[in-house]
Amino acid sequence: MNISEHLNEVNSRIARACARSGRSVDEVTLIAVSKTKPLEDLQAAYLSGSRNFGENKVQEIVEKQPQMPEDARFHMIGHLQRNKVKQVIPYVVMIHSVDTVRLAQQIDQEAGKMDRIMDILLEVNVAGEESKFGFTTEETEAAVLEISRFPHVRIRGLMTIAPFVDDPEENREVFQKLYQLSVDIKKKNIDNVTMSVLSMGMTGDYEVAVEEGATMIRVGTGIFGAR
Ligand SMILES: *Cc1c(COP(=O)(O)O)cnc(C)c1O
Repeated sequence: MNISEHLNEVNSRIARACARSGRSVDEVTLIAVSKTKPLEDLQAAYLSGSRNFGENKVQEIVEKQPQMPEDARFHMIGHLQRNKVKQVIPYVVMIHSVDTVRLAQQIDQEAGKMDRIMDILLEVNVAGEESKFGFTTEETEAAVLEISRFPHVRIRGLMTIAPFVDDPEENREVFQKLYQLSVDIKKKNIDNVTMSVLSMGMTGDYEVAVEEGATMIRVGTGIFGAR
């Protein structure tokens, strides 16, 4: 299958997952994770309707974004070092991978200098994996409160990278936990925090994530093939 056929397949699977769970397809944004892929692949996805692209390296975003049509939106989804924040801000619409208060503070400072308000998600290490970045579920609410005071970032929700598993059902509980955490935080009505975005689900498990309330799913291999 080519990129266009892969996209059709992913979109119809999303539609079926929405139907199963009584959700509208409009609630789910597909982010085409184009890391390591050449510009031609992004252009092919764009021509087939993709408008949201996910990358995990600042250098790749800085190179690819200016070469894509203006309505192609780039999302930073990978671990971000504080010394690269300034460089990436002009090229992205959202940073999904905010994993420390210090990183949020750096984004606030740099966005302020550019007279911007940066949309961010807090990354939560729901499964408590040693190898992963992110706040623990227990730390997240306090981090939201602290970061909500920074004037040049706006917390839009939460993101998680679920464990790599053979059976996507094994991650259902992870997605349920992130959903519940976002509901709990939303109830606190914290100023400057919306909790309207849940970024969860990848090629192996996005249908389960959609069933459990994902509003952004990040699919790479399922669209562009193996890396
Ligand atoms: C690479 C990556 C994805 C996409 O992974 P696939 O399994 O190829 O769909 C999603 N999220 C993050 C944070 C990634 O780094």
